Amino acid sequence: MSADGKPVALVARVLLPAGMELLQAECEVREGGLDADRERVLELAAGVTAIVTDPTVPVDDELLDAAGEGLRVVANFAVGTDNVDLEACRKRGIPVTNTPDVLTNATAELTLALTAAAARGTTGAEADLRAGRWTGWDPGAYLGLELSGATFAVVGLGRIGTRYAELVRPLAGELLYVARSPKPGAESSLGAVRAELDEALARADVVSLHAPASPETRHMIGRPQLEAMQSHAILVNTSRGALVDTEALVAALEAGEIAGAGLDVYESEPDVPEALVAAPRVTLLPHIGSATYRSRDGMARTAAQNALAVLRGDEPPNRVV
Ligand code: NAP
Repeated sequence: MSADGKPVALVARVLLPAGMELLQAECEVREGGLDADRERVLELAAGVTAIVTDPTVPVDDELLDAAGEGLRVVANFAVGTDNVDLEACRKRGIPVTNTPDVLTNATAELTLALTAAAARGTTGAEADLRAGRWTGWDPGAYLGLELSGATFAVVGLGRIGTRYAELVRPLAGELLYVARSPKPGAESSLGAVRAELDEALARADVVSLHAPASPETRHMIGRPQLEAMQSHAILVNTSRGALVDTEALVAALEAGEIAGAGLDVYESEPDVPEALVAAPRVTLLPHIGSATYRSRDGMARTAAQNALAVLRGDEPPNRVV
Protein backbone atom coordinates (compact mmCIF):
# COMPACT_ATOMS: atom_id res chain seq x y z
CA MET A 1 0.00 0.00 0.00
CA SER A 2 1.11 3.59 -0.62
CA ALA A 3 1.42 6.19 2.14
CA ASP A 4 -2.17 7.33 1.47
CA GLY A 5 -3.53 3.77 1.63
CA LYS A 6 -3.83 3.16 -2.12
CA PRO A 7 -2.67 -0.10 -3.70
CA VAL A 8 0.62 0.19 -5.58
CA ALA A 9 0.68 -1.10 -9.16
CA LEU A 10 3.90 -1.82 -10.99
CA VAL A 11 3.65 -1.35 -14.74
CA ALA A 12 6.77 -3.32 -15.57
CA ARG A 13 7.33 -1.46 -18.84
CA VAL A 14 4.58 0.83 -20.23
CA LEU A 15 0.80 0.89 -20.44
CA LEU A 16 -1.16 2.92 -23.00
CA PRO A 17 -3.30 5.78 -21.61
CA ALA A 18 -6.57 3.79 -21.95
CA GLY A 19 -5.32 1.47 -19.20
CA MET A 20 -3.03 3.85 -17.34
CA GLU A 21 -5.86 6.30 -16.60
CA LEU A 22 -7.95 3.51 -15.06
CA LEU A 23 -5.04 2.29 -12.94
CA GLN A 24 -4.07 5.76 -11.77
CA ALA A 25 -7.63 6.46 -10.62
CA GLU A 26 -7.33 3.74 -7.98
CA CYS A 27 -3.62 3.03 -7.50
CA GLU A 28 -0.27 4.62 -7.06
CA VAL A 29 1.51 3.55 -10.26
CA ARG A 30 5.22 2.85 -10.74
CA GLU A 31 6.21 2.59 -14.40
CA GLY A 32 9.42 0.89 -15.50
CA GLY A 33 9.48 2.37 -19.00
CA LEU A 34 10.23 0.66 -22.31
CA ASP A 35 13.93 0.37 -21.47
CA ALA A 36 13.50 -1.06 -17.98
CA ASP A 37 16.03 -3.84 -17.53
CA ARG A 38 15.57 -6.77 -15.18
CA GLU A 39 17.34 -5.06 -12.29
CA ARG A 40 15.11 -1.99 -12.58
CA VAL A 41 11.92 -4.08 -12.71
CA LEU A 42 12.99 -6.05 -9.61
CA GLU A 43 13.82 -2.84 -7.77
CA LEU A 44 10.46 -1.22 -8.64
CA ALA A 45 8.57 -4.39 -7.70
CA ALA A 46 9.39 -4.11 -3.99
CA GLY A 47 6.17 -3.98 -1.99
CA VAL A 48 3.72 -3.67 -4.93
CA THR A 49 0.13 -4.90 -4.78
CA ALA A 50 -0.28 -5.51 -8.52
CA ILE A 51 2.02 -6.21 -11.44
CA VAL A 52 0.89 -5.23 -14.92
CA THR A 53 3.30 -6.71 -17.38
CA ASP A 54 3.77 -7.79 -21.01
CA PRO A 55 5.21 -10.78 -22.91
CA THR A 56 8.77 -9.45 -22.77
CA VAL A 57 8.96 -9.61 -18.96
CA PRO A 58 9.43 -13.02 -17.32
CA VAL A 59 7.24 -13.26 -14.21
CA ASP A 60 8.98 -15.90 -12.12
CA ASP A 61 9.83 -16.67 -8.51
CA GLU A 62 12.51 -13.99 -8.54
CA LEU A 63 10.04 -11.23 -9.48
CA LEU A 64 7.31 -12.60 -7.20
CA ASP A 65 9.80 -12.68 -4.32
CA ALA A 66 10.87 -9.13 -5.12
CA ALA A 67 7.24 -7.99 -4.91
CA GLY A 68 6.75 -9.75 -1.58
CA GLU A 69 3.76 -10.85 0.45
CA GLY A 70 1.50 -7.95 -0.50
CA LEU A 71 1.27 -8.92 -4.19
CA ARG A 72 -2.34 -9.77 -5.12
CA VAL A 73 -2.46 -9.99 -8.92
CA VAL A 74 -0.36 -10.36 -12.09
CA ALA A 75 -2.14 -8.82 -15.09
CA ASN A 76 -0.49 -9.68 -18.39
CA PHE A 77 -0.86 -7.25 -21.32
CA ALA A 78 -1.23 -10.14 -23.81
CA VAL A 79 -3.37 -13.19 -24.38
CA GLY A 80 -0.38 -15.56 -24.28
CA THR A 81 0.95 -16.10 -20.77
CA ASP A 82 4.09 -18.07 -21.62
CA ASN A 83 6.19 -15.32 -19.96
CA VAL A 84 4.49 -16.05 -16.63
CA ASP A 85 5.36 -18.98 -14.38
CA LEU A 86 1.72 -19.91 -13.82
CA GLU A 87 2.59 -22.67 -11.37
CA ALA A 88 4.61 -20.30 -9.20
CA CYS A 89 1.67 -17.88 -9.12
CA ARG A 90 -0.82 -20.68 -8.43
CA LYS A 91 1.27 -21.93 -5.49
CA ARG A 92 1.26 -18.44 -3.99
CA GLY A 93 -2.47 -17.96 -4.64
CA ILE A 94 -1.83 -15.00 -6.95
CA PRO A 95 -4.34 -14.75 -9.81
CA VAL A 96 -2.92 -14.23 -13.31
CA THR A 97 -5.00 -12.54 -16.00
CA ASN A 98 -4.63 -11.99 -19.76
CA THR A 99 -6.26 -9.91 -22.52
CA PRO A 100 -8.19 -12.24 -24.85
CA ASP A 101 -10.80 -11.24 -27.47
CA VAL A 102 -9.80 -7.58 -27.88
CA LEU A 103 -6.80 -8.60 -30.01
CA THR A 104 -8.34 -11.53 -31.85
CA ASN A 105 -9.41 -9.74 -35.02
CA ALA A 106 -6.27 -7.59 -35.29
CA THR A 107 -4.03 -10.64 -35.02
CA ALA A 108 -6.09 -12.65 -37.49
CA GLU A 109 -5.99 -9.79 -40.00
CA LEU A 110 -2.21 -9.52 -39.64
CA THR A 111 -2.00 -13.26 -40.21
CA LEU A 112 -3.97 -12.80 -43.42
CA ALA A 113 -1.56 -10.06 -44.52
CA LEU A 114 1.43 -12.34 -43.82
CA THR A 115 -0.29 -15.18 -45.67
CA ALA A 116 -0.73 -13.05 -48.78
CA ALA A 117 2.82 -11.69 -48.54
CA ALA A 118 4.35 -15.14 -48.13
CA ALA A 119 2.21 -16.66 -50.88
CA ARG A 120 3.35 -14.08 -53.42
CA GLY A 121 6.87 -13.42 -52.15
CA THR A 122 6.19 -9.70 -51.91
CA THR A 123 9.06 -9.02 -49.49
CA GLY A 124 11.75 -10.34 -51.83
CA ALA A 125 10.11 -8.71 -54.86
CA GLU A 126 9.96 -5.35 -53.12
CA ALA A 127 13.56 -5.70 -51.92
CA ASP A 128 14.63 -6.24 -55.55
CA LEU A 129 12.77 -3.14 -56.65
CA ARG A 130 14.15 -0.99 -53.83
CA ALA A 131 17.70 -2.19 -54.54
CA GLY A 132 17.38 -1.40 -58.25
CA ARG A 133 17.54 -5.09 -59.21
CA TRP A 134 14.20 -5.06 -61.05
CA THR A 135 14.98 -4.99 -64.74
CA GLY A 136 11.44 -5.10 -66.10
CA TRP A 137 8.34 -7.22 -66.40
CA ASP A 138 9.18 -10.87 -66.81
CA PRO A 139 6.52 -13.51 -67.42
CA GLY A 140 8.50 -16.15 -65.52
CA ALA A 141 9.67 -14.10 -62.53
CA TYR A 142 8.19 -13.72 -59.06
CA LEU A 143 5.69 -16.52 -59.48
CA GLY A 144 3.77 -17.46 -56.37
CA LEU A 145 0.89 -19.31 -54.84
CA GLU A 146 -2.70 -18.27 -55.55
CA LEU A 147 -4.81 -18.34 -52.41
CA SER A 148 -8.19 -18.83 -54.08
CA GLY A 149 -8.98 -22.49 -53.97
CA ALA A 150 -6.00 -23.24 -51.74
CA THR A 151 -6.15 -25.77 -48.92
CA PHE A 152 -5.61 -23.99 -45.61
CA ALA A 153 -4.56 -25.77 -42.41
CA VAL A 154 -5.20 -23.87 -39.19
CA VAL A 155 -3.21 -25.35 -36.32
CA GLY A 156 -4.91 -24.37 -33.05
CA LEU A 157 -8.53 -23.42 -33.64
CA GLY A 158 -9.07 -21.09 -30.69
CA ARG A 159 -10.13 -17.46 -30.86
CA ILE A 160 -7.49 -16.20 -33.33
CA GLY A 161 -7.35 -19.42 -35.35
CA THR A 162 -11.13 -19.33 -35.76
CA ARG A 163 -11.18 -15.67 -36.80
CA TYR A 164 -8.41 -16.37 -39.32
CA ALA A 165 -10.43 -19.31 -40.62
CA GLU A 166 -13.45 -17.00 -41.04
CA LEU A 167 -11.32 -14.50 -42.97
CA VAL A 168 -9.84 -17.08 -45.35
CA ARG A 169 -13.07 -19.09 -45.73
CA PRO A 170 -14.16 -17.15 -48.85
CA LEU A 171 -10.79 -18.00 -50.47
CA ALA A 172 -10.22 -21.50 -49.20
CA GLY A 173 -10.94 -24.60 -51.20
CA GLU A 174 -10.54 -26.90 -48.24
CA LEU A 175 -10.24 -25.68 -44.67
CA LEU A 176 -8.48 -28.14 -42.36
CA TYR A 177 -7.90 -27.66 -38.66
CA VAL A 178 -5.63 -29.33 -36.13
CA ALA A 179 -6.89 -29.30 -32.56
CA ARG A 180 -6.78 -31.25 -29.33
CA SER A 181 -10.56 -31.54 -29.32
CA PRO A 182 -13.18 -31.35 -32.08
CA LYS A 183 -14.69 -27.97 -32.86
CA PRO A 184 -18.24 -28.76 -34.04
CA GLY A 185 -19.13 -25.05 -34.29
CA ALA A 186 -16.39 -24.38 -36.86
CA GLU A 187 -17.20 -27.61 -38.66
CA SER A 188 -20.80 -26.56 -39.21
CA SER A 189 -20.37 -22.81 -39.72
CA LEU A 190 -17.11 -22.85 -41.72
CA GLY A 191 -17.04 -26.35 -43.16
CA ALA A 192 -13.74 -26.89 -41.35
CA VAL A 193 -12.49 -30.46 -41.32
CA ARG A 194 -10.41 -31.84 -38.45
CA ALA A 195 -7.12 -33.50 -39.37
CA GLU A 196 -4.07 -34.85 -37.60
CA LEU A 197 -1.04 -32.56 -37.89
CA ASP A 198 0.83 -34.88 -40.28
CA GLU A 199 -2.12 -35.15 -42.62
CA ALA A 200 -2.81 -31.41 -42.54
CA LEU A 201 0.84 -30.63 -43.32
CA ALA A 202 0.89 -33.03 -46.24
CA ARG A 203 -2.32 -31.67 -47.78
CA ALA A 204 -2.18 -27.94 -47.09
CA ASP A 205 -1.02 -25.15 -49.36
CA VAL A 206 -1.05 -22.75 -46.40
CA VAL A 207 -0.24 -23.79 -42.83
CA SER A 208 -0.99 -21.18 -40.16
CA LEU A 209 -0.07 -21.65 -36.50
CA HIS A 210 -2.35 -20.40 -33.71
CA ALA A 211 -1.65 -22.67 -30.73
CA PRO A 212 -0.06 -21.17 -27.59
CA ALA A 213 3.55 -21.76 -26.57
CA SER A 214 3.70 -24.67 -24.14
CA PRO A 215 5.95 -27.66 -23.51
CA GLU A 216 3.56 -29.62 -25.75
CA THR A 217 3.76 -27.20 -28.70
CA ARG A 218 7.49 -26.39 -28.53
CA HIS A 219 9.03 -27.11 -31.96
CA MET A 220 5.81 -28.75 -33.12
CA ILE A 221 7.06 -27.65 -36.56
CA GLY A 222 10.56 -29.10 -36.97
CA ARG A 223 12.46 -30.88 -39.72
CA PRO A 224 10.07 -33.87 -40.13
CA GLN A 225 7.02 -31.61 -40.23
CA LEU A 226 8.61 -29.25 -42.77
CA GLU A 227 9.60 -32.26 -44.86
CA ALA A 228 5.97 -33.39 -44.76
CA MET A 229 4.81 -30.11 -46.31
CA GLN A 230 4.44 -29.67 -50.05
CA SER A 231 7.21 -27.78 -51.87
CA HIS A 232 4.78 -25.10 -53.07
CA ALA A 233 3.29 -24.60 -49.57
CA ILE A 234 3.88 -21.75 -47.14
CA LEU A 235 4.12 -21.60 -43.35
CA VAL A 236 2.71 -18.68 -41.37
CA ASN A 237 3.36 -18.14 -37.68
CA THR A 238 1.78 -15.37 -35.62
CA SER A 239 1.44 -17.41 -32.42
CA ARG A 240 4.79 -17.78 -30.64
CA GLY A 241 8.29 -18.38 -31.99
CA ALA A 242 8.78 -21.45 -29.83
CA LEU A 243 6.38 -23.45 -32.00
CA VAL A 244 8.86 -23.53 -34.90
CA ASP A 245 12.40 -24.90 -34.93
CA THR A 246 14.04 -21.92 -36.62
CA GLU A 247 17.13 -23.83 -37.78
CA ALA A 248 14.94 -26.43 -39.46
CA LEU A 249 12.83 -23.70 -41.07
CA VAL A 250 15.89 -21.95 -42.48
CA ALA A 251 17.15 -25.27 -43.86
CA ALA A 252 13.76 -26.02 -45.46
CA LEU A 253 13.61 -22.56 -47.08
CA GLU A 254 17.18 -22.81 -48.35
CA ALA A 255 16.55 -26.27 -49.77
CA GLY A 256 13.25 -25.19 -51.36
CA GLU A 257 11.38 -27.81 -49.34
CA ILE A 258 8.67 -25.22 -48.74
CA ALA A 259 7.89 -22.19 -50.89
CA GLY A 260 7.95 -19.50 -48.23
CA ALA A 261 7.16 -18.37 -44.73
CA GLY A 262 5.54 -15.43 -43.01
CA LEU A 263 6.60 -14.86 -39.41
CA ASP A 264 5.62 -12.34 -36.75
CA VAL A 265 7.21 -14.13 -33.77
CA TYR A 266 10.64 -15.60 -33.00
CA GLU A 267 12.29 -17.97 -30.55
CA SER A 268 14.43 -15.34 -28.75
CA GLU A 269 12.82 -11.99 -29.38
CA PRO A 270 13.96 -9.42 -30.27
CA ASP A 271 16.89 -11.43 -31.70
CA VAL A 272 16.20 -12.73 -35.17
CA PRO A 273 18.90 -15.09 -36.47
CA GLU A 274 20.97 -13.76 -39.37
CA ALA A 275 20.32 -16.98 -41.24
CA LEU A 276 16.57 -16.37 -41.08
CA VAL A 277 16.93 -12.78 -42.26
CA ALA A 278 19.05 -14.03 -45.16
CA ALA A 279 16.78 -16.98 -45.99
CA PRO A 280 14.89 -16.85 -49.29
CA ARG A 281 11.16 -16.12 -49.54
CA VAL A 282 10.44 -15.04 -45.97
CA THR A 283 8.41 -12.12 -44.74
CA LEU A 284 9.48 -11.12 -41.24
CA LEU A 285 7.50 -8.76 -39.05
CA PRO A 286 8.48 -7.49 -35.58
CA HIS A 287 5.72 -9.08 -33.43
CA ILE A 288 2.97 -6.68 -34.48
CA GLY A 289 0.01 -9.09 -34.57
CA SER A 290 -2.11 -7.10 -32.13
CA ALA A 291 -0.72 -3.71 -33.10
CA THR A 292 -3.81 -1.77 -34.12
CA TYR A 293 -5.08 1.29 -32.26
CA ARG A 294 -8.31 -0.51 -31.37
CA SER A 295 -6.67 -3.71 -30.20
CA ARG A 296 -3.89 -2.16 -28.12
CA ASP A 297 -6.33 0.27 -26.44
CA GLY A 298 -8.56 -2.69 -25.64
CA MET A 299 -5.61 -4.66 -24.27
CA ALA A 300 -4.53 -1.76 -22.04
CA ARG A 301 -8.06 -1.28 -20.72
CA THR A 302 -8.52 -5.02 -20.18
CA ALA A 303 -5.21 -5.46 -18.34
CA ALA A 304 -6.06 -2.55 -16.01
CA GLN A 305 -9.64 -3.76 -15.44
CA ASN A 306 -8.39 -7.22 -14.55
CA ALA A 307 -5.90 -5.88 -12.02
CA LEU A 308 -8.43 -3.50 -10.49
CA ALA A 309 -11.09 -6.21 -10.20
CA VAL A 310 -8.77 -8.34 -8.06
CA LEU A 311 -7.75 -5.34 -5.95
CA ARG A 312 -11.44 -4.61 -5.29
CA GLY A 313 -12.00 -8.20 -4.23
CA ASP A 314 -13.94 -9.15 -7.38
CA GLU A 315 -13.38 -12.02 -9.79
CA PRO A 316 -11.31 -10.62 -12.71
CA PRO A 317 -12.94 -10.93 -16.15
CA ASN A 318 -9.97 -12.81 -17.67
CA ARG A 319 -8.44 -15.05 -15.08
CA VAL A 320 -5.95 -17.67 -16.36
CA VAL A 321 -5.04 -19.16 -12.97
P1 NAP B 1 -6.89 -19.55 -27.60
O1 NAP B 1 -8.25 -19.04 -27.86
O2 NAP B 1 -6.58 -20.13 -26.27
O3 NAP B 1 -6.54 -20.58 -28.76
C1 NAP B 1 -5.45 -21.42 -28.73
C2 NAP B 1 -5.90 -22.74 -29.31
O4 NAP B 1 -4.77 -23.58 -29.44
C3 NAP B 1 -6.91 -23.48 -28.43
O5 NAP B 1 -8.04 -23.78 -29.21
C4 NAP B 1 -6.16 -24.73 -28.00
O6 NAP B 1 -6.91 -25.91 -27.99
C5 NAP B 1 -5.19 -24.90 -29.14
N1 NAP B 1 -4.07 -25.77 -28.81
C6 NAP B 1 -3.34 -25.82 -27.67
N2 NAP B 1 -2.40 -26.76 -27.77
C7 NAP B 1 -2.54 -27.33 -28.99
C8 NAP B 1 -1.88 -28.37 -29.68
N3 NAP B 1 -0.87 -29.03 -29.13
N4 NAP B 1 -2.30 -28.67 -30.93
C9 NAP B 1 -3.30 -28.02 -31.51
N5 NAP B 1 -4.00 -27.03 -30.90
C10 NAP B 1 -3.60 -26.69 -29.66
O7 NAP B 1 -5.81 -18.38 -27.80
P2 NAP B 1 -5.88 -17.19 -28.86
O8 NAP B 1 -6.49 -16.00 -28.22
O9 NAP B 1 -6.42 -17.68 -30.14
O10 NAP B 1 -4.30 -16.90 -29.01
C11 NAP B 1 -3.46 -17.90 -29.54
C12 NAP B 1 -2.00 -17.53 -29.39
O11 NAP B 1 -1.70 -16.47 -30.29
C13 NAP B 1 -1.62 -16.95 -28.02
O12 NAP B 1 -1.31 -17.99 -27.11
C14 NAP B 1 -0.44 -16.10 -28.34
O13 NAP B 1 0.73 -16.83 -28.13
C15 NAP B 1 -0.59 -15.77 -29.81
N6 NAP B 1 -0.79 -14.34 -30.08
C16 NAP B 1 0.13 -13.67 -30.82
C17 NAP B 1 -0.06 -12.35 -31.13
C18 NAP B 1 0.92 -11.57 -31.95
O14 NAP B 1 1.07 -10.38 -31.74
N7 NAP B 1 1.59 -12.19 -32.90
C19 NAP B 1 -1.20 -11.67 -30.66
C20 NAP B 1 -2.11 -12.38 -29.91
C21 NAP B 1 -1.89 -13.72 -29.62
P3 NAP B 1 -8.10 -26.29 -27.02
O15 NAP B 1 -9.27 -25.61 -27.63
O16 NAP B 1 -8.16 -27.74 -27.08
O17 NAP B 1 -7.71 -25.74 -25.67
